[in-house]
Parts: sequence; C-alpha cells; structure tokens
Amino acid sequence: MTKERNGSDQILKTYMWGQNYVDELIKINAGLGPITASHSPVWPFWAMQDANYNVIGIVNKTGRQVERYEYTPYGERTVYGRQDVLTNIQEETFWFNDAMLTYPQLTSARISWPHPVTLCDFGFQGKMHDTVTGQIYGVARMINAGRFSRRDPEKYIDGMNLYEHLGSNPITRVDPSGTSFLIVPTLVAPTPAQGDAGGWWVALEANVTGGPLRINNAYNLRLWESTRGIGKSACILYVKMTLQFKFKKGTRDWASEAEKRAWMNNYVSAIESAWSNQHRIILAEGDACDCKCPNGTQVKIQITPLFEGIHVSEHWALYIERIKDGGFQGSSTNTSFGSVKLDSEDLTPWWKGTDFQRGAMHEFGHMLGLSDEYNVKGGVTHWLKDTGSVMHSGDAVRPHHYTPFSEWITDKAPQPKKGEKCKYAVQDGKKNWTYENAGIHN
Ligand SMILES: [Zn+2]
Repeated sequence: MTKERNGSDQILKTYMWGQNYVDELIKINAGLGPITASHSPVWPFWAMQDANYNVIGIVNKTGRQVERYEYTPYGERTVYGRQDVLTNIQEETFWFNDAMLTYPQLTSARISWPHPVTLCDFGFQGKMHDTVTGQIYGVARMINAGRFSRRDPEKYIDGMNLYEHLGSNPITRVDPSGTSFLIVPTLVAPTPAQGDAGGWWVALEANVTGGPLRINNAYNLRLWESTRGIGKSACILYVKMTLQFKFKKGTRDWASEAEKRAWMNNYVSAIESAWSNQHRIILAEGDACDCKCPNGTQVKIQITPLFEGIHVSEHWALYIERIKDGGFQGSSTNTSFGSVKLDSEDLTPWWKGTDFQRGAMHEFGHMLGLSDEYNVKGGVTHWLKDTGSVMHSGDAVRPHHYTPFSEWITDKAPQPKKGEKCKYAVQDGKKNWTYENAGIHN
C-alpha cells in the first residue's frame, strides 16, 4: 500500500499493489478531500497496465475508463481525459463523453482540488511521475527523458553507459530498482509453497549476475514472503534456471532419445533435491519489524530443462557426452560462455581419493558462482580440509555455499526507510555465513 499525502500530511489517495511484480498497480482509492474519518466519500478506481507494467488507463466502478495515458519509449507521459470533478467521474451524475479521452490534459486548472493533473501518479512501468518536474522516480535514481539523472550506483553491471536506462530497449525491459534492467517478467500466478494461503513477491531479478565470481546471466531470483498466519512468516527464495541439454557422442553413443531424456530428468531431480532446502537464510542484522523475512528464508532450486534444439532463453547450455558405464572423465564449467561439459556418469558418485562425489553436483556449484575448495592457490585456504564439501571432493552442500543467495537478499530485498540496514546470512550451528567471512571471493 502506498499513501499520497498533502502538505498537512493528510492522506489524499491510497494505492494498492499486486503480487506478480513490485510495480504492479491494482487499485486507487481517492476522494474529494483527504481520506480521513468524517470526510467526504472515497471512491475506488482500478488501474490497467500493459505487458511492461505501464499504467495505460484508469477505470471507475462502473467499468468506464476515465483517464488514459500515453508514453514515449522512455516514459514521458501524456494524460488524457478527466476534465470533470472527481465525484462526477465516479458517479456519472454529470455529462461525460468518451471523446474526452482523446484530449490531452493541458493545465491543472481544469481539474478539481485535491487531485490536479491526474488521478494516478504512477505511470511508466508502474513508477511515480513527478508532475512538477516531469521526472520519474526510478527508485535508486530519478529518470529524466529516458536517462537517469545520475550515474548508476551499481556502476557498469549492465552496460558501459551509466546514464542509459533499460539498456536502450524499453520494449522488453523494466527496471524496478533503478540500477539494472531486467527482461519484462511474464505475468504468472505466484507459486507459494504447498499450504501457503497468501503472500507476495518482495524482490525479483532476472538474469542475475550472481555469486562471488559474478557470473553473468546465471539464474533468475524471486523472493516470496508468506503472509500466512499472524504477522510476517517465512520466505522462500526461488532460484530459477533454464538449462539447455545437448547430448553428444563420447567414447560411446547415446542409445536413443529416451535415454537422453531419462538422463536429463534424472539430472533435474538430483540437482533440485541436492541443492534445495539444505540451509536456512536468516536475518542476521536489523530489526525484525522493519526487515523482510525475519523468520528465515528457505531456498528452492527450480530447473526448467530444454531438450536439445535451438533456444535463446537459456541461462546455461549443458553438453553431455556418453561414456562407458562406470567410467570417469573430467567435467568443467565455462562461466564466461555459460556452458558446462558433463558426461553420462556425472550423476553417479565417484571416489575422488578422499570422498565420493557426483560430478554434476560439483559443476552446479560453479554455475551458482562458487569456487573450487581444493588445491587453492593464494589466500582462500580455510576450506582445504573439508573434503566432504561439494566444492572439494565430496557431495555435501555447506552453509557458506548459500551465501550468493543471502548476499542477493541483502542487496535486493526492500530496506527500512530509516535506521539499521537489514543483513542476511546463512544459519549454521557455529556462526552465520556471509560473503565476507566465508572467504570465497577469488
Ligand atoms: Zn571445480
């Protein structure tokens, strides 16, 4: 819920937001005066948004469109319609003509107090327009005529032009934080955990440059806050990866398409169960009342497999060679090209001299941005003795392997307006892990 106030701190309008996307606007409540007890009535209006979350119109309770908005590709807005007082717009007690929706609003004088210019202050991609300066609140920065008003605080993450907005591609991209664009998220029903009655997405990012190694286009992350029960409840972080599987002849050839598909399905279920729900992310610093997910976050890996063919939407391409049953050959992950080389035996534990390991589990750690923990040159030596770790020669996912996710929640989850920053870490019996103390930077 967002409230708009006047100079006397009275609430003029309230905005209700949806669950599919942070800037999904559902409803506006507005009245002739401030929305306070004993004041004049308050009327509901519903927002219409297009696929890029631009607010394109406002509808009243009778289903009549009362305002219409047009945008330039970078968000300059023209408001059409609503040349009458609010009560008539809502009640239709006054003459109203659809032709009004073809005339732009020119001055605030035509609109009755206290809602000059427009009923809806949220427009381009669901962001707030400043009707005085013409700027748009891009959350981290102001946007002015398609460019940000100051340098990208996250520097060169998504391009060399720090003032560029939406990578100069406003049609397919949105930018909920003001620091990095993402491909427009498709409107899908939220997928809460089984038994969840309600909740909402509190942070979303597609094509994350993730992990301590800063791997490009590694996965999509979505943080779901459950509102079931009294007060805030637990959160779920969905780690969504789209993987393309390409099967190649090795020292043997694949027997059939069925054999390839069976391997692919086994891979998906093995990775999802080995890497999901192993440890809990907790709120390590910050007030439980002001921060998100104070009761902890579970991590859920969700893989979308694409079988062979040509695809453009994948995060990773996996090349799987058929080798002899019970055999072994080395596997590798190329984080620059987003490609992984595996073989048909990588779902079978192999004795690595100190522990058993499934090669696919280890390579998946690299796909999350994690480094090897054996034979490490330089400063990162304190994992060398942990041979059971999946990033060493074993198969176990350790708490510090979830720090790419706790770090992302610290960066992306909404922070309190004032006061102590919310910091998230991975829970362990001995200490809580973050990037800093895990020492997994390279
Ligand atoms: Zn490795």
